[in-house]
Amino acid sequence: MISADTPLRFLKGVGPRRGEALAAAGCATVEDLLYVLPFRYEDRRSFTRLADLVAGMAPATLAVRVVEARLVRTRRVGFTIFEAAVADASGEGRVVWYNQPYLARVFAAGRHAVLFGAPSLGRRGLALENPDYEILDEDDGEGIHTGRIVPVYRKLGELTSRRVRSVMFGALAELEPSSLGVTLSAEVACRNGLYDRLRALREAHFPPATADPAELEIGRTPAQRTLAFEEVYLLQLALALRRDGARRQARGIAYEVPDALRTELARMLPFRLTEAQKRVVREIGTDLRAPHPMNRLLQGDVGSGKTVVALLALLVAVENGYQGAFLAPTEILAEQHYTNLRRMLDSGSIDCRVALLHGSLRAAERRRVLADLATGHGRIAVGTHALFETAVDFRRLGLVVIDEQHRFGVLQRAAIAAKGKRPDVLVMTATPIPRSLALTLYGDLDLSVIDELPPGRTPVRTVVRTEDDRRRVYDRLRLELGRGRQAYVVVPLVEETERSDLKAAIAHAAELGRVLPEFRVGLVHGRMKAVERDAGMREFREGRVAVLVATTVIEVGVDVPNATVMIIEHAERFGLSQLHQLRGRVGRGSERSHCVLMVGEEQGGGAARERLAIMERTTDGFRIAEKDLDLRGPGAVFGTQQHGLSDLRFLAQVLRDPALLEAARAEAQALVKSDAGRAEAERLLETLGGRWRKRLDLARVG
Ligand code: ADP
Ligand code: MG
Repeated sequence: MISADTPLRFLKGVGPRRGEALAAAGCATVEDLLYVLPFRYEDRRSFTRLADLVAGMAPATLAVRVVEARLVRTRRVGFTIFEAAVADASGEGRVVWYNQPYLARVFAAGRHAVLFGAPSLGRRGLALENPDYEILDEDDGEGIHTGRIVPVYRKLGELTSRRVRSVMFGALAELEPSSLGVTLSAEVACRNGLYDRLRALREAHFPPATADPAELEIGRTPAQRTLAFEEVYLLQLALALRRDGARRQARGIAYEVPDALRTELARMLPFRLTEAQKRVVREIGTDLRAPHPMNRLLQGDVGSGKTVVALLALLVAVENGYQGAFLAPTEILAEQHYTNLRRMLDSGSIDCRVALLHGSLRAAERRRVLADLATGHGRIAVGTHALFETAVDFRRLGLVVIDEQHRFGVLQRAAIAAKGKRPDVLVMTATPIPRSLALTLYGDLDLSVIDELPPGRTPVRTVVRTEDDRRRVYDRLRLELGRGRQAYVVVPLVEETERSDLKAAIAHAAELGRVLPEFRVGLVHGRMKAVERDAGMREFREGRVAVLVATTVIEVGVDVPNATVMIIEHAERFGLSQLHQLRGRVGRGSERSHCVLMVGEEQGGGAARERLAIMERTTDGFRIAEKDLDLRGPGAVFGTQQHGLSDLRFLAQVLRDPALLEAARAEAQALVKSDAGRAEAERLLETLGGRWRKRLDLARVG
């Protein structure tokens, strides 16, 4: 018998050397191994007769007797062919394996074997090439690799899929059941139609004969649902405990928001807040007044007006005698926030020194800003990641606002918050995260959503165009520019380091300069120094440049209301959510704006066009994100650096099953409601293996 925490090197088929390598890759114990789930399954249940093999058919399973087997000599050094003649009741056939000379020890004449593979027609007739095999008389009649629905694994260290399968089968057979521990109580399992842990793992690896291959494929069998549920449930427990702990113990700052301040803030606003903004301001206000630290995620589509909400919160902190930090992902955005803040302050009577801190400040200026913040004279610091630096010291930091959260990791979130004494934290994101996902990922944050755009916006008109339309696209562009409007032209950079792409961007800008000699064309790209890039952006913002050719560095946050045209080259290379973010750069004034998605020549028709057509039909970021999730999966949509998202193995599947997600969340919340339940949850998380602890810790940071 082995137990869940037995190191893998003790397993048959692994051994010390491979065990070492696996441990180094984070797969150390039997429990770790059991959670290496197949990435797909192959249905090898029904047998095909040798006589029915034809070249080009799909892979088939055959039950055969070995008639004769031999190693064939070849002239090429280091290249071997092992060949076997096999037979079943219907006739004979030939099987070849390349470079697997050890098979000579496996396939002796007279043995019975099950083979799985696709036949192909070679010089010497029809043969099965490199089929998967299993010698029957060795495995006590229970097939592992054939004659069943077979799990297919990604290569694990040096272990091939086949080897993983054998090792997994052995581990499951010999595992001492009680060593696995219980994650879902019997009541929870029963209420939700789930299996116990061992059965779930067993059947997720080796589905029973009755399993439905279609359900397996989409992860909907009871075994798979159990594992997905378990994952979300444990994560939610960890998050709920954390949030609860923060509530109870950590005393934060209880701000006061007297009526006079409220009136003053209202007076400073350059416009009336939308209903959604008002609601969110109320939610944040409640948090600010409460004695525990705020931990809130503010989500709103591009252009929905998150910034002004954040500025109001910052001013509340300032009026209570605290300092605020406003963290932006780029210098140009930091500058934009700074300007907005100054403008608001200029129209009111709140007196407040605002510092702008970013990487390209001169040394003397930087020293002055740092001293200002350390003494508490500087009340609000607006800046880039330069704010994280250890040299930055606040006297009394009370509120941290983080703009475009997806650009910063949880660790950075923690780093900046550590500069104060349990400051309130507001993180903002324009990434339209479906609610179900937001609850999974940010279960420790409260969620506020601005789901309404400011009035007077005309929806952006979006069209997909090809090379054939280019002249007309430029004619249209010229017309808009002639009216004094400005345009963005985005060219993709597949990788920031790819020279040829960059050259294409430069060439594109030059080409536009020739086509539009009467207008100034600027260029910004990711390989420029931040200073140059910001200078380029500034020229555009100030209207001195009519057309800005840019790689995706303009993706986030920049606000130039006079820009009414967005042309995106090779739009098929972008994800839908990214296109949506880009499109959000225009349509900020009352003028009708246009977004043109240019599809590359080779991509003129079919799938790419169809995918992009979604952009023509809707401007709803949430619908677009959901579609994107469907098409590309969560990693591609949200990036993977945050909270080990790629670690949430079941995420994609869970997203397609919101009911399961909700149920897991509800169960977790129900458990931590009572003191006894909380103790139980703590005990449960405490006893989990190292694998879980690592991942849940990740969720706990920040
Ligand atoms: P985002 O949510 O993308 O950060 P911003 O805060 O940059 O959006 O707001 C986009 C634009 O809308 C800005 O020019 C801002 O001044 C303007 N805006 C925000 N709220 C309102 C409102 N209630 N009424 C009119 N304009 C608004
Ligand atoms: Mg913004």
